[in-house]
Amino acid sequence: MVKHLILALDGLSREELFWFSKFSPLLHKYCQTAVASNLTAELLCNTQTTWATLLTGKSWKEHHCVGYTKPILYLTEPQIVTEAHLGDIFLTRVDAERTGAINVPLLRPSARKWIADSASATNMTVSPASLAQRLPRITDRRSFHTPGNIRRNPIAVWRDAVRADAERIYAAGTLLDSNLELVLLRLSSFDVAGHFLFRELFDDSFVSKVDDLNLLGGALSELLQKMEEAEYSVVIISNYGFESCSRVVNINGLLAAGGYCRIALKSDSRRNSAAKELSGSEHSNRWHVLQTSQACSSTHGTVHINSKNRFRTGVVEDNEIAALRREILEYLPCAVHKRHGLGMLLNANTDPELPDLVFRVPGADYTFNQTLNSYDAPAAVHSPFGFLAVPKDRMLPLDDTINSVAGANLVGQLISGSAP
Ligand SMILES: [Zn+2]
Repeated sequence: MVKHLILALDGLSREELFWFSKFSPLLHKYCQTAVASNLTAELLCNTQTTWATLLTGKSWKEHHCVGYTKPILYLTEPQIVTEAHLGDIFLTRVDAERTGAINVPLLRPSARKWIADSASATNMTVSPASLAQRLPRITDRRSFHTPGNIRRNPIAVWRDAVRADAERIYAAGTLLDSNLELVLLRLSSFDVAGHFLFRELFDDSFVSKVDDLNLLGGALSELLQKMEEAEYSVVIISNYGFESCSRVVNINGLLAAGGYCRIALKSDSRRNSAAKELSGSEHSNRWHVLQTSQACSSTHGTVHINSKNRFRTGVVEDNEIAALRREILEYLPCAVHKRHGLGMLLNANTDPELPDLVFRVPGADYTFNQTLNSYDAPAAVHSPFGFLAVPKDRMLPLDDTINSVAGANLVGQLISGSAP
């Protein structure tokens, strides 16, 4: 039986992987003996959607995970999406007791060995509890950085992420003693660096940052050495990359300007408690209340029509939905272009499990905050270009570029032993 490590370096492109490998001798050796493809995400390249695709081998149109949250009962009170919403995931093909997951979005504590994702909506950080005793250095690293903090000292934020990743890498090495069949380890450093440093990360003259890269690369080398000795097959993946960001777009502000919703100027105290536990701009306490809404964006990258049939406080009749969807489909790209000078990629859906519109504005971040000036654009935002690298000896048919669904299915086949 082949044992597997899936190592996720989300945020790096294929070229950046080779660049980073010079800080990690064993990663460099791996890159020389692996085949790597560019991996292209679909329209939505947020962390949750890309991970849902990796875990299920399905497109977002099938697994229905379009972000951290989705509105289920009320349009303006979205609920956290977890693995429970996804249906069949490839992890279930392996005995849960012989699986370890570290910092993987969507996964919840379960029979598997589990260490919190930095965005998990739970107070638990390690499961089972006995595992915590073996990992005294794993602490709750879910420190939330405000945009002001980040602007003042992005290097400190990056350093914090590197320290947290070093602990996660150590934890993955410790888990090997349990003879696990499958270990998933996601590092967050390159996601943090992407958002707040972007091109600065690749400027080698920045000495303090090079120390951090050496720390991270050294820890990874140690882990890869251990994995080699324990005969693990290693797959390295990045579910998305980064592109520079020039604007922050407030879709609800534009929908309000078009008369599709009204936004109250006070914080919403009615939000469900699960959402409050999450960090990130989508869940900050500066949320503004949407009222008498025909349609709004309650999760970044989506617009839902407030259907009477779908939501408890819905206002739009079934026979009005198609026309309203068409109207917003025409209105929104024009409004984004007029206000921000940016193009918009849009997809309209009639499946009642999906948002009415799903979109991406390349080069833009999103906000729900009406006071736009308080939130400057970050250095960069997710782009759909990551990579997939597998050992040459697995003989997988990898093209130079593959899409995320095909990539996920290759990984799933490797895990279940059905790959050639
Ligand atoms: Zn990110």
